Amino acid sequence: MNDEEDFADELKVWALEHFSQMAIKAVWRPDGTGLRYRKTDDETLQLEHRVDHPDSLHHHERITRLFATVNIGMTDEDVLTSPAALSAEDAFRMEMQERQAVAASWTHECGTPLASMPLELGVPMFIGDREVLIEDGETQTVEDWAISVTCTECDGVVLMNPDDFNLLAGDGLFMRYKPTVDEEESDMWYVAMTRQQMYETAETGELGVLVGSECPDTGGKVPPWMWGTYCQRVPHTDYMLKVLDDLEEE
Ligand SMILES: [Zn+2]
Repeated sequence: MNDEEDFADELKVWALEHFSQMAIKAVWRPDGTGLRYRKTDDETLQLEHRVDHPDSLHHHERITRLFATVNIGMTDEDVLTSPAALSAEDAFRMEMQERQAVAASWTHECGTPLASMPLELGVPMFIGDREVLIEDGETQTVEDWAISVTCTECDGVVLMNPDDFNLLAGDGLFMRYKPTVDEEESDMWYVAMTRQQMYETAETGELGVLVGSECPDTGGKVPPWMWGTYCQRVPHTDYMLKVLDDLEEE
């Protein structure tokens, strides 16, 4: 391995863009590296956690060198390490537990924990298009989405990152959308069916709706994580009653 490695310009541009898009205090976990970073200020990343494995250390050294080429500093004096997981399954479970623990500590600017917000009322919202650089130096348009939740304490609107929302609320509240057409929010939810629900629907001869990037009923935009799902149409009032019922059963 060559310590004097020259990074491709595309990679340096990517590093710079990635860093500038991170909010201060945001966490970054490069896939498959066993590393967790935090952006501490406008010019510094901090390594907070590392899996105790030579590969992980090697990834960290490489990331440090890459960011140094675009003048982003690295601090790694105070790093938590955890043993390398035994299997991919263990690694996944440990990562999920860790991510959920981190997510549980997030708070709104008024101090209210995001985990205690009325997540069952969260509505996916399209924020805008963004150009991102992909590996071969080309750009690609990605859609930015957020889940809008109203804070119970200050009535402020919280726009949660969809992945964060998924971690806190689970798939049941994540795999759904409510279309907005001409700034008018539909009173119908589209909720992705589980295989069991699809089976029951097929047995009763009822029909759901197969969803692409556009809502077949309203023409509204569909969040990317819902593309290719088979959904049930549920009127808002019925849906809220059902969600409240489910909460009581837990
Ligand atoms: Zn608040």
